[in-house]
Amino acid sequence: MMTESHIDYYRRSNCTVRICESVLCFIESEAAKAGKHETGGIIAGKGSYEENNIVITHASSSGPKAVKKRNFFSRDVFYCQRLLDQWANMSKGKIDYLGEWHKHFEEKPHPSPLDLDTMSRIAFARDYHINNPVLLIIGSSNNRDSLRVFSIGFLRVEETNLQVENDNNPNGNDDYVSFISEKM
Ligand SMILES: [Zn+2]
Repeated sequence: MMTESHIDYYRRSNCTVRICESVLCFIESEAAKAGKHETGGIIAGKGSYEENNIVITHASSSGPKAVKKRNFFSRDVFYCQRLLDQWANMSKGKIDYLGEWHKHFEEKPHPSPLDLDTMSRIAFARDYHINNPVLLIIGSSNNRDSLRVFSIGFLRVEETNLQVENDNNPNGNDDYVSFISEKM
């Protein structure tokens, strides 16, 4: 019998999104810190959904001017843009925006209609440079057990696999830019 409150109707993608262990730990601790409120931020790194080579190397916090409520979250846009610019500069353009992460109070989180709307707009917006942004949602456990990753494009939502990588040597890729996270 189904015990989940939501039916899992998302198409499963063959793609695997890789994430650095320290980035995942950062997201877990930010989610736990937010207590009874949603939180989130941007994720950045390298690769694309089309080439199935996404590596998430950076994640931001929500920023000081974020709006955080029980069922609503809006990140500090200027703060996140400034961080993204720093990451791009420090990596000589190798690191770019990949998508968003946020927290939901669900055991098995799924994108809300507003999430889908936001991500589709990002997929279309020229200033984001990404056709299929990644949405990473961490659920009520505040850890990777309740984390789900989606790729969202035009009229398309797919759940992707997630693989956690050792920070220093993801698949032996030499030109990997090591994690330079936002330090609080
Ligand atoms: Zn959401």
